[in-house]
Amino acid sequence: MPDIEVPVLIVGGSLVGMSAALLLGHHGVPALVVEHHRGTAIHPRAAMITQRTMEVFRTVGVEQIVLRKSDEQFVQDGAIMAVETLAGKELAWFIANLNEGVRDVSPSSRIFITQSLLEPLLKSRAEELGAQLRFSTEMISFEEDVTGVTAQIRERDTGKTSTVRARYMIAADGSHSRIRERLGIRMLGHGVFSKSITIYFRGDVAPLLRGRSLSVIYVLNSTLSGFFRIEKPFTSGFLAVHWLGDPKNPVTDVSKDLTNERALEMLYAALGSRDVQIAIENVMHWDATADAAERFQQGRIFLVGDAAHVMPSGGFGGNTGVQDAHNLAWKLALVLKGAAGPKLLSTYDPERRPAAAFTVEQAYSRYVTRSAPYLRSDDMQAIQNDLNIELGYCYHSAAVIPEGADDGAPHENPRESKGKPGTRAPHVFLDRNGEKISTLDLFGGNFALLAGPEGNAWCESGRAAARQLGIALDVYEIGADGLTDPSGNFPNAYGMTPSGAVLVRPDGFVAWRSKGSSGASPAILTHTLTTLLCRKPS
Ligand SMILES: Cc1cc2nc3c(=O)[nH]c(=O)nc-3n(C[C@H](O)[C@H](O)[C@H](O)COP(=O)(O)OP(=O)(O)OC[C@H]3O[C@@H](n4cnc5c(N)ncnc54)[C@H](O)[C@@H]3O)c2cc1C
Repeated sequence: MPDIEVPVLIVGGSLVGMSAALLLGHHGVPALVVEHHRGTAIHPRAAMITQRTMEVFRTVGVEQIVLRKSDEQFVQDGAIMAVETLAGKELAWFIANLNEGVRDVSPSSRIFITQSLLEPLLKSRAEELGAQLRFSTEMISFEEDVTGVTAQIRERDTGKTSTVRARYMIAADGSHSRIRERLGIRMLGHGVFSKSITIYFRGDVAPLLRGRSLSVIYVLNSTLSGFFRIEKPFTSGFLAVHWLGDPKNPVTDVSKDLTNERALEMLYAALGSRDVQIAIENVMHWDATADAAERFQQGRIFLVGDAAHVMPSGGFGGNTGVQDAHNLAWKLALVLKGAAGPKLLSTYDPERRPAAAFTVEQAYSRYVTRSAPYLRSDDMQAIQNDLNIELGYCYHSAAVIPEGADDGAPHENPRESKGKPGTRAPHVFLDRNGEKISTLDLFGGNFALLAGPEGNAWCESGRAAARQLGIALDVYEIGADGLTDPSGNFPNAYGMTPSGAVLVRPDGFVAWRSKGSSGASPAILTHTLTTLLCRKPS
């Protein structure tokens, strides 16, 4: 007999494991999280949060608190640029203003907030939604069988062990994932190309900023390559160092023989001034790597976050992990509730692995271009627009019904995808009984059917199909029931006529679309939903 029975066991309770717990809680699944550390992150690490991650946070009710805390910690809308030194020459401005030119595609903004500030916010919301969190607890072994996973967990302080029985297990145990290793899943990609360090420091660097509003500052000079992130009021931050010395013959093991004095020298070399009194608070060692796992699922076990992919730069690693959790949570919830067939879970790997592998390559290309030109090679992917990575990744699986032949596109400009099945449902501002909302606010719980202002036949058919299948379906006729489209742009933004309709999944991805009213019937939507939910036809 197990000591604890749960629907889902999550191993690792940092950014991605905590997000998985929160998202499962949002779908009514109380997961158990075991985390080796005594609490949430102590190191700042990830801070760049994409619009997509903020959209996910919006769905689960934490966007506003995250925004407030972010504003306390960082300047908003800072630039991403490169310098020789903070005091010296500017080399390039990659993005002049973090949200310039992207505000129209989302109701949410790109922001900066460190993991040490973000994780407690996710934790308290996850607990509110029913997650059980056990810190100072490690998973020490597991076995999978046909109906579930049995794991041994141990409390670090007392040594007490317990047996957990779960229907499914999520491996959110980081880049050195023991679960991935145990399952024999290889990492594929570029491997480790530097032993990097992050130096956390205190010191008043405001004079060196010279009033510039900067989010990420890449540093490239004859001593080192790395990047700064500086917190308000500009008296603390970190310098990550990727390599040292001559770029033609770089020393890529920055960790080796590191002393406090050496770390201080690196800081002064990046600051370009010795006028600042600096105190080093901490040094973290990590491998700069660009790899993705060869499989994201094995049986009842799913890899998410750094356990599934690792990236050296670009601010994508944690965000990609949150998107993994977002993709998986609703599928697990529907399967556990019996509303979907177990095969729905087999769509996790074909959807998330290509999206993550594309992001890994893009992070690698950015790393080479911005920080390590000596790695440049002909097989490097061309750099794509950040929006294509953040909002434009496309899904191809049994949980999407393509229109005609599937083009297999891995990504698309989110301004051009216009409601195409397999892409993120576009943002359009609507008015709901006098309140300005986004189309995105209609998603997140159940499947949603959105019909144009002349699409009532689809709405009636959707309600009938949901009744027949015994599932919850949110039905919206845009332009009726207190839901108006002041810009009149909804049909065009979703690539349909006013009499068309789309089915949007709980993760806000378009699963199916009819551009017009042709074929509107309960039978068509019953068949479509049965297919998308991987259910056996009745
Ligand atoms: C300097 C730096 C800057 C970065 N900046 C960004 C950024 O701006 N944006 C971004 O998106 N990403 C960024 N990243 C990457 C980001 O930090 C990672 O992608 C993210 O932390 C991954 O989260 P995770 O939860 O998957 O893994 P981790 O944070 O590694 O967490 C794994 C957890 O699992 C626990 N664990 C492992 N094994 C067990 C076990 N057997 N039992 C119990 N617990 C276990 C560990 O204690 C750990 O807490 C940055 C990384 C670094 C180093």
